Amino acid sequence: MALTGGIASGKTTVAKWIAQQGIDCIDADVIARQIVEPGQDALKAICQHFGKQVLTADGHLNRRQLRDYIFNHPEQRHWLENCLHPRIKNLIDEQLLRTSKTPYTLLIVPLLIESGFDKLADRILVVDIDPQQQLKRICQRDQVVMEQAEQIVASQSTRQERLAIADDVIYNDGSLAELKQKTMAVHRQYLQLAQAKFA
Ligand code: ATP
Repeated sequence: MALTGGIASGKTTVAKWIAQQGIDCIDADVIARQIVEPGQDALKAICQHFGKQVLTADGHLNRRQLRDYIFNHPEQRHWLENCLHPRIKNLIDEQLLRTSKTPYTLLIVPLLIESGFDKLADRILVVDIDPQQQLKRICQRDQVVMEQAEQIVASQSTRQERLAIADDVIYNDGSLAELKQKTMAVHRQYLQLAQAKFA
């Protein structure tokens, strides 16, 4: 099952509760960070393409620098995605093979639509949040001003695009306790589906 949602929608919170039920979780963001560690061939390719300016003094990827560069050279986004996505996908495939012992596996992909990884999952679970609430949470958590929060949201897929590919939706429109209840209901549904599939 793939879990997605816009920034600050509640994905991490939902995934944490599902993991606590003993379900294996694979986080595409964690993999995306691993593949650009020093010494990894993706980092070498990025450095060759963009130059040493995208490295920190100690040889790590300078994310901010790369983000700013892509922001100013949007035509380069495609190259970067072509470099990263196949490598991320290979590692997800490897981990999926290793984690197939729990009834289902949760694949957390914040940018599911953008990456095309939706094809790796049987079902897509979207955590949906009211846009005003989302902006408030981004500002509070990331200490950014409203304008920046709006820019980040605008750079992602739209709420409608996410809802259009959803098999299941958790509306994060209440308290944390309500979010937990909804999460556990979806988890129970997924256990049943997994049981039916392997019966
Ligand atoms: P990101 O995309 O940035 O990783 P996310 O989708 O994983 O974000 P979370 O980190 O789970 O989102 O939630 C964002 C913030 O909002 C967290 O501080 C979380 O505790 C808070 N939060 C989420 N849902 C609720 C809720 N229903 N009530 C109160 N706070 C909430």
